[in-house]
Amino acid sequence: MKYMALLCALIAIIACGCGEKQNQNEPITASDFQLDTVVTLSIYGQGDKSLLNDAFGEIGRYDKLLSRTNPGSDTYRLEQNAGEGFVAVSSDTIFLLKESEKYSRLSGGLFDVTIGPLVSLWNIHDGTGHYPTEEELDSAMALVNYEDVLIDGDNAMLKRKGMAADFGAIAKGYIADRVKEFLIGKGVKSGIINLGGNVVLIGGKPDGGDFHIGLQDPDAATGEYMGIVGISDKSIVTSGPYERFFMYEGKRYHHIIDPKTGFPSDNGLIQVTVISDDSVTGDALSTTLFLMGLEDGMKLAGDTPGVSAIFVTTDKKVYLSSGFDTTFNITNPEYSLAP
Ligand code: AMP
Ligand code: MG
Repeated sequence: MKYMALLCALIAIIACGCGEKQNQNEPITASDFQLDTVVTLSIYGQGDKSLLNDAFGEIGRYDKLLSRTNPGSDTYRLEQNAGEGFVAVSSDTIFLLKESEKYSRLSGGLFDVTIGPLVSLWNIHDGTGHYPTEEELDSAMALVNYEDVLIDGDNAMLKRKGMAADFGAIAKGYIADRVKEFLIGKGVKSGIINLGGNVVLIGGKPDGGDFHIGLQDPDAATGEYMGIVGISDKSIVTSGPYERFFMYEGKRYHHIIDPKTGFPSDNGLIQVTVISDDSVTGDALSTTLFLMGLEDGMKLAGDTPGVSAIFVTTDKKVYLSSGFDTTFNITNPEYSLAP
């Protein structure tokens, strides 16, 4: 069940060399289950598979550093020392805390890296889920406040006991950027990094054309897409309630939680996709826009330079942010562009 939901999260990658004869333009591809999701790396024009193993090693290293459940990680130690004292953390963690604060401010506190206690309470990640009582919700919500993250040089602290940071909305984007950097450093000029639907492209296709990325249909089975985006050298990240959820009394409770209500965000959006140069922006922003809803989200996306966003509402209308400058075609006629 959990993996079904996870697989639904994957953006299908299509038409990237498929159908061509086996030749030097065929990618080398490898997949692994990391970061609690399916990671697939493909590189073109580079004959060494060990490079992909090294890249998986890099991902594992960042996972160890940032995963909340990994004893010894920065996130774990921040949680253990919440309300007690500062913890020396990596520059990656400081960067992510600061970046998270930026999106908290932009969204009036809807994006909140201290969402940890609510994430634990709802217990969506292990696939079973828990429908909380009012008392449980009240006490978890009281522990969520991005303004209670303190940073002093290379040290950070969560101000109150019981607080917990959760980089689930931003870490995959950050790590995807690092993997891109790593592979470019090794001479890769064309490739696809897919961290469970958090997709980053290195250059374009070997023939010079754009990669064609299929957007998962938010209302359909794994791998069915509702449109195709043509892009090179960019990041494309999607947030949606179908990625992780559990069912309770016939209703779906998903993993993107509104800290103001304590409940999964329920604002008429079923998917937000962000196309941007770097993936840490795309990851943080897609979650932020999803939480903000159509109207405020469209405004923020339009106001953010270098960003194109695609919003899908429950009535299957598709909205493109102002200044949208990416090739995008809807392929499933159930969906239509809003006027
Ligand atoms: P994404 O799939 O990138 O949209 O991120 C969703 C993940 O971010 C969840 O699984 C949680 O780990 C975390 N999260 C949930 N709600 C919030 C929130 N309001 N602010 C920041 N992170 C959140
Ligand atoms: Mg995100």
